[in-house]
Amino acid sequence: MRRLRKQRDELLRLYKQLSSELGETNRGVVALYAELDQRSAELRAASEAKTRFMTSVGHELRAPVTAILGLVRLLRDPGSDPLTPDQAEQLALLEGSAADLLGLVNELLDLAKAESGRLEPRWGTVDLPGLFGALRGTMRSISRSGAARPDATRTEVEIVVEEPDGLPPLRSDEAMLTQVLRNLMTNAIKFTREGEVRLAARPVGADRVAFTVSDTGIGIPPTEQERIFEEFYQVPGAAQADVTGTGLGLPYARRLVTLLGGELTLASTVGEGSTFTVVLPIAPPEPR
Ligand code: ADP
Repeated sequence: MRRLRKQRDELLRLYKQLSSELGETNRGVVALYAELDQRSAELRAASEAKTRFMTSVGHELRAPVTAILGLVRLLRDPGSDPLTPDQAEQLALLEGSAADLLGLVNELLDLAKAESGRLEPRWGTVDLPGLFGALRGTMRSISRSGAARPDATRTEVEIVVEEPDGLPPLRSDEAMLTQVLRNLMTNAIKFTREGEVRLAARPVGADRVAFTVSDTGIGIPPTEQERIFEEFYQVPGAAQADVTGTGLGLPYARRLVTLLGGELTLASTVGEGSTFTVVLPIAPPEPR
C-alpha cells in the first residue's frame, strides 16, 4: 500500500513538473510568435517606405528631366539658330544622358507601382502567335541595330522565336507578359556575344505554361543568381563594362510575373549561358 502511494506521489510530482515545463514552452512559443508578428510588421513598413521613396523621387525627377529634354530638342530644332558642330555634339550628348535618366526614372516608377499593389492585371485571352511574332520582329531589329549592346566587336547573335504550338488557351495579361519576355530577351541579347537567344513555350501539366528565354551568353555565377533580382543589382565584372542598364529590369519582371500568379526562375552556367523560365497559370489565380 505504502509503495503504491509512493509511486502515485512520484507520478503526480512528475506530472506537475511536466505541466510546468510545457507551460513555459508554450509561453516561449507565444512570445516568439509575437516577435515574428512585430518583425513582419516592421518589414512591411520598411518595404512601404521604400516604395513611397521610389515613387516620390521618381516624380520629383521626371518633371525636370522632361524639361531638359524638351529644351534640348528645341535647341536642335532646324528652325532654331544654327549650332556649331561642337555645340551640336554636346547637345546630342546631353540629350542622350537626359533620355537615359528619363528611362531610369520611368523604370523606377513602374517598379514602385508594381510593388505598391496599384497595378492590376487586365485578364484576357493572350494571342500567343501574335505576341511571339511581334517579339521576333522587335528583338531581331534590336539585336541587329546593336541598341542593346553598343560594342563594335560583337558577332551576329541568332534570335530564334519558336512557334507557340500545342499550348492550351492562356488567360493572362498580354501587355505584362510581353513586357516580361521583352525584358528577358533584351537582357539575353545584351549578355550574349555569339550563338543564339531563343524563346520557347511549352505546357506544364494541364494548367500551366512555361516560357523559356535561353541564351549562350556569359552566364551568371551561382552566388549572384538570387541577387540579380534585387533592385539596382548588377553582376560586377569587366565583361559587362560595355553594356548599359539600371538593374531594375529583373526585379520588375519578377513582380509582374508574381502579379500574374506565376514564377520567374533562372538556371545558368558561367561561360555557357542562362535560361530564364516564366511559369504562368493558364487562368487567373483565385483571389486570396
Ligand atoms: P540591367 O539589365 O538593366 O542591368 P536587370 O535587373 O535586368 O538590369 O539585370 C540585372 C543584372 O543581371 C544584369 O546587370 C546582369 O549582370 C545580370 N543578367 C541579367 N540577365 C542576364 C543574362 N541573360 N546573362 C547574363 N547576365 C544577366
